[in-house]
Amino acid sequence: METKKKILIVEDEKNIADVLAVNLMLAGYAYDVAYDGEAGLEKALSGAYDLILLDIMLPKMNGFEVCTRVRRKLSTPIIMVTAREDEKDKILGLDTGADDYVTKPFSFNELLARIKSNIRRSSGELVAPERPAEASTMLTVRGLTIDTERYAVERDGNAVELSKKEYDLLVFLASNLGRPFSREELLEQVWGYEGFYGDIRTVDVTVKRLRDKLEADPSKPEYLFTKRGVGYYLR
Ligand code: CA
Repeated sequence: METKKKILIVEDEKNIADVLAVNLMLAGYAYDVAYDGEAGLEKALSGAYDLILLDIMLPKMNGFEVCTRVRRKLSTPIIMVTAREDEKDKILGLDTGADDYVTKPFSFNELLARIKSNIRRSSGELVAPERPAEASTMLTVRGLTIDTERYAVERDGNAVELSKKEYDLLVFLASNLGRPFSREELLEQVWGYEGFYGDIRTVDVTVKRLRDKLEADPSKPEYLFTKRGVGYYLR
């Protein structure tokens, strides 16, 4: 007997999670549910799932961040599920490594069709020869490359030595290209709980050091920009 495919549902709205769970069960899938981003990430990284259904607006860690972090380690298919119609979200979701995208409200049959096709595609990939293993671990922004497998950053072929937090900030911004984040958001997303008690000037200082190391002329950034009144972004 074929083992059931197992789906991880990451969704904070309990009634939506319940509806998904019941329908998946009826369609012959096994499932597991996480109600916030951190729990979702932890479960996802166990590698026990054939596919992940990932909501975007989640407590503790948003879906984009969960997706980025899962992608650093695993190629499990991820379908982003969101209430937001925003085209930008869709692009951002796919940029962070999601395989597909559905907007609420969706029909369960439509979702089921996408689940099937994504699982089929990923199991096909596993047997395909010479799949470039490092494809999903390289972030590239023109002359800037970040190899998240080796924690190595190069600009125009020259190695750039970064501290842990400079590196984390760079990877976070590079995983969310073009999207500005406030200093508060960056403290929370990049520094995590440490930043909770931190000073937002920590972000400014780290941005300055990062620019000093990355930019040919730190006063005229080509990568790490300031969005006046909002925060910082990479482009
Ligand atoms: Ca939500």
